[in-house]
Amino acid sequence: MAKILIVGRPNVGKSTLFNTLIGEKKAIVERTPGVTRDLVEGYLELKEGKGVKLIDTGGIEWGGKEFFSEVIKKLVDQALEEADLVLFVVDAKQGLTEGDKVIAEYLRKKDKKILLVINKVEAKEDQERVFEFYSLGFPEIISISAKNKKNITELKNLIERQLEGSIEEIPQEEPIKIAILGRPNVGKSTLINRLVGYERVIVSEIPGTTRDCVDVRLSLPTGESVLLIDTPGIRRRTRLEERVEKFAVDKALHTIEKVDVVLMMITAEEGITNQDQRLLRQVYKHHKACILLVNKWDLFDKKREAGNLVLENIKYGVRFMPWLPILTISAKTGRRVKEIWSVLKEVMEQYSLRVNTAQVNKLLEYLKENHNFSIKGKKLKFYYATQTDIKPPTFVVFINFDPEEVPKSIEKFIRNSFQKHLNFDKVPIKVVFRLRS
Ligand code: GDP
Ligand code: GDP
Repeated sequence: MAKILIVGRPNVGKSTLFNTLIGEKKAIVERTPGVTRDLVEGYLELKEGKGVKLIDTGGIEWGGKEFFSEVIKKLVDQALEEADLVLFVVDAKQGLTEGDKVIAEYLRKKDKKILLVINKVEAKEDQERVFEFYSLGFPEIISISAKNKKNITELKNLIERQLEGSIEEIPQEEPIKIAILGRPNVGKSTLINRLVGYERVIVSEIPGTTRDCVDVRLSLPTGESVLLIDTPGIRRRTRLEERVEKFAVDKALHTIEKVDVVLMMITAEEGITNQDQRLLRQVYKHHKACILLVNKWDLFDKKREAGNLVLENIKYGVRFMPWLPILTISAKTGRRVKEIWSVLKEVMEQYSLRVNTAQVNKLLEYLKENHNFSIKGKKLKFYYATQTDIKPPTFVVFINFDPEEVPKSIEKFIRNSFQKHLNFDKVPIKVVFRLRS
């Protein structure tokens, strides 16, 4: 797929242009890990479902002091190398600056298609200043206002013309798979009705599943798309059905394996029961992300002390998952229901976060300096660690022992330290030891 790189001095409006172009069609916006974390990528749709990749370099100080530092230079050179078209953004309100000239000089040396985008052209004075930029010598020029969305269609047409032939199908975004689990009568249906009522919903009745069990697709206000898996009872069930419903633990276990996140629902009245704990242990065992929803909190609205006690008991009941976010809600009144999505966003960011190897090893060095570990009198050495996967974030640590011999307590200490210092405080992570041969 063709790639477009947006470049230009700080504050000329690169990120604004990026957002304007991506618009609501934002498919994937991800921060590329590692050194290239200063680049943000997304898809720019040009024709029905087809488009190109757009890359914002907003994190880089183009033309600034650090511009020619080794790291930045390497990053920029590589990004430019891969680009099929460069949008060189300048600011009409400021007029032509030395920084612009530095960047122009640099770009001219690369053999790339360049489109000079004069941004912030709104008032009459801005129009007049446009001509200053002609001296940069780029033949393809367009005046726009990214903020007011002026001339954006024209810009897209220009882009389309430049990249004719390399416009491809935009990959569909994988939705976040979620299940809402909990005993009968905790309020699952009430919550689902509310969530579905709030958000745009595309109900896809999956053939072959039971009449009452569907996957529901939601587009969240935060931009993510979500698939509610094995969702029972979008329609109200009859009294009879309600009575015969059992807490099908086996089925729940099956569901847990299919999803990224479990929304585990309990009530403030009953707190955490043995059954809930059984299910949560499975969530834990499979390293699934989870949010604990304490429903019917309206019953404790005016009983603050009692409420605090309830919450303390719940926290104690889930102490084996210290990272578990807990949210008190009322599905019936709707209180804090929308907060589920902001917590979910944070959880998913952590669950799919990649930490660069240098950072992991810096932490490992620190742990080594401050702690002594030994197994049966022999020093345990940590050589090197690296993140190998996401969802769940998985780390491999190379050591001088057979992993089988490492006590649980040491594994737990490393895991907790990684969670605390590498920004995984709301999700589970997996730490695997490996003998360095
Ligand atoms: P970047 O550093 O190049 O990514 O610039 P930003 O996109 O962060 O924009 C810098 C500032 O310029 C922000 O305050 C924007 O709101 C503003 N800005 C961006 N585009 C326009 C525009 O078309 N017109 C006006 N008047 N302001 C803009
Ligand atoms: P499900 O079996 O988990 O799907 O639970 P339902 O959504 O059918 O709810 C069971 C009962 O709890 C119903 O009578 C709901 O009206 C009630 N309920 C659900 N949410 C709340 C809440 O936030 N507060 C209170 N007080 N009652 C609720």
